[in-house]
Amino acid sequence: MALKEYKQKRDFKETPEPSKKGKGSDKRDLAFVVQLHDASHLHYDFRLEVDGVLKSWAVPKGPSLNPEDKRLAIMVEDHPFDYRTFEGTIPEGNYGAGKVIVWDEGTYSPMGANSRKESEELMHQMLEKGHIKIILHGHKLKGEFSLVKMHNTDKQWLLVKKNDEFASSEDIRKKNKSVLSTRSIDPHLEKYEDKSEKKSP
Ligand code: MN
Repeated sequence: MALKEYKQKRDFKETPEPSKKGKGSDKRDLAFVVQLHDASHLHYDFRLEVDGVLKSWAVPKGPSLNPEDKRLAIMVEDHPFDYRTFEGTIPEGNYGAGKVIVWDEGTYSPMGANSRKESEELMHQMLEKGHIKIILHGHKLKGEFSLVKMHNTDKQWLLVKKNDEFASSEDIRKKNKSVLSTRSIDPHLEKYEDKSEKKSP
């Protein structure tokens, strides 16, 4: 049932995206993935495995390693577990048409969890509460992050890096290659630069 909305939005005769739920991992650690998606608006899709599906947020500006950055993360429909390795092009005319790469992936654990069972229980509680604290073990994203639901909103959360040894002012979005293949997507970072602070020559 969790994938009803996902399936309703897509025609699997047209799109190469996974149509089935997938088995879910049976490892101790839960999986996470961040996909860079060059759709009508370029965004990053942040996904956390819970109950065999991927809880998903669209992050327009992408993740940051700087604890001062609060990145808007809009909760979207659950995605199948198999989506975590999906890369390719969603054809024109389909939902989310455009290129997708696996920008980062790895495992994650909720803060304080000592087993897979505890991890899933904690994730249920934190999703309900609207305050998720996790440790990411990715290629690009490492250490503690939080996802905090904004008051009086239905789907708007903020993705924030916690200040730990992995915090940095480096713009991690400049690393724009897939961690699974040789694919890459230009993230057009010049759009995000605040030109007003630049002095004229
Ligand atoms: Mn997307």
